Amino acid sequence: MTYFVDLTPYTYLERHDEDGRGPSDEPLLNVGWLDASHPFPTGAPPGGLMPALTELAKVRVRQTRGHHYCEICIRDLGDDAREAIREGMIARESAEFEVRGDNVAYAAPQLLLHYVDAHGYLPPAKFRAAALRSTS
Ligand SMILES: [Zn+2]
Repeated sequence: MTYFVDLTPYTYLERHDEDGRGPSDEPLLNVGWLDASHPFPTGAPPGGLMPALTELAKVRVRQTRGHHYCEICIRDLGDDAREAIREGMIARESAEFEVRGDNVAYAAPQLLLHYVDAHGYLPPAKFRAAALRSTS
């Protein structure tokens, strides 16, 4: 997958409003675009974050044809990664989801849930707050 630093402007795919949520003029920022070669912040997720993210991720946007595999899992498996991919044992996703903040929106890969759950990734505080607020 493509790596982007958290909270940088989103540039990956053309932005559409095909999901019918109307025009959105607020800036769209990257969150959770991890790869295996860049360190990322880790920590225990605040209570309620995973359920909130699970709910938000149900709205899939910018679906692509191919799959993104978790590069961190692939790195950690080393020589066993190819077989694990063949057997469907590597987390993979093919879309993004968005979280609305204050005059800003965040674009995250669906794999963000796996990064938090399996690799201890701790997304930026503003993103966490927006996710918790949007589902409470
Ligand atoms: Zn992984």
